[in-house]
Amino acid sequence: MKAIVVEECGGPEVLRLKEVPDPAAGAGEVAVRVRAAGVNPVETYQRAGSQGYAPALPFTPGADGAGIVESVGAGVTAFAPGDKVYIGGSLTGTYAERCLCRETQVHPLPASVTFEEGACLYINYGTAYRALFQRGGAAAGETVLVHGATGGVGIAAVQWARLRGLTVIGTYGSGIGEALLREQGVEYRFDHGDAGRFAEIMEVTGGRGVDIVIEMLANVNLPADLEILAMRGRVVVVGSRGDVSITPRAAMRKDGDIRGMVLPNASPEEFAEIHAATGAALECGGIRPVIRSVHPLADAHRAHVMVMEPGSHGKIVLSM
Ligand code: NAP
Repeated sequence: MKAIVVEECGGPEVLRLKEVPDPAAGAGEVAVRVRAAGVNPVETYQRAGSQGYAPALPFTPGADGAGIVESVGAGVTAFAPGDKVYIGGSLTGTYAERCLCRETQVHPLPASVTFEEGACLYINYGTAYRALFQRGGAAAGETVLVHGATGGVGIAAVQWARLRGLTVIGTYGSGIGEALLREQGVEYRFDHGDAGRFAEIMEVTGGRGVDIVIEMLANVNLPADLEILAMRGRVVVVGSRGDVSITPRAAMRKDGDIRGMVLPNASPEEFAEIHAATGAALECGGIRPVIRSVHPLADAHRAHVMVMEPGSHGKIVLSM
């Protein structure tokens, strides 16, 4: 089969398409014929060996995907060959025609959802759900600022928050991003390149501030996020690409919390909740991934350039 293999850390050019042996499912494992894989910023950090990642080499990137179960190992009872599934983590990497997963890493994909959409679920909707509800404690009636709402996690956060009855404020960095947020029903939209946005956000909340910030670039925004929190507000740090200095007194004044999170820290019970919520919301149409572009597997290097460029408007997907 064909797979992207990283043999040395470096730029996008180290993502090379290679012929590798087909994986065979061992006990408790499921072999999936991958039809689409989602591209995420974390895979660029792993490829580059940056942001604290030092992967064992060689490896095939990818934790997001969707496809058809090809075979199952001894002891697997929940899935059978032919099942349509989405992938939430993989033992061998999803940038490949086939991959191996633990039984707990595959989940049913409803007939109405495409493989490309299925490849956008785990990291984006899982992270957004965990940030809003498991770490952020978001409740209906509260106001959330999705700071960086146009990317994969941001759009998922917008959709979860709207589904659960929160008022959503979202930020964008381009005209196409703003149009996407309007389409997604985001009532209050601000340009995160505009320094005046924080004052305007305070204004649309009537001076009260926001209950939750879902923060995609904490190293840039955290000091100001603390200033626009409502009483007992929470900033959930989803993304950060550097250091920043804050004024702790800004958090003290509001009984405010800064809560970090990474998706892999979810407990088995929290993952079960995430996947149950995702399946139910897909079935009823409450969430629907927005796909920006689909590329052949051989163009993974182009996808890695695009995912780090400004002007996000949905998810980048590889198709096999
Ligand atoms: P993405 O699709 O590449 O989107 C990046 C987002 O950041 C876009 O909405 C972009 O907006 C926005 N952005 C750019 N400049 C910004 C600024 N100054 N202030 C606020 N937002 C800004 O990436 P993603 O998959 O949504 O991931 C977002 C971040 O979360 C990344 O850093 C990623 O590594 C991280 N992440 C963390 C976890 C976790 O478990 N903690 C999981 C997934 C992702 P424009 O392009 O419109 O400017």
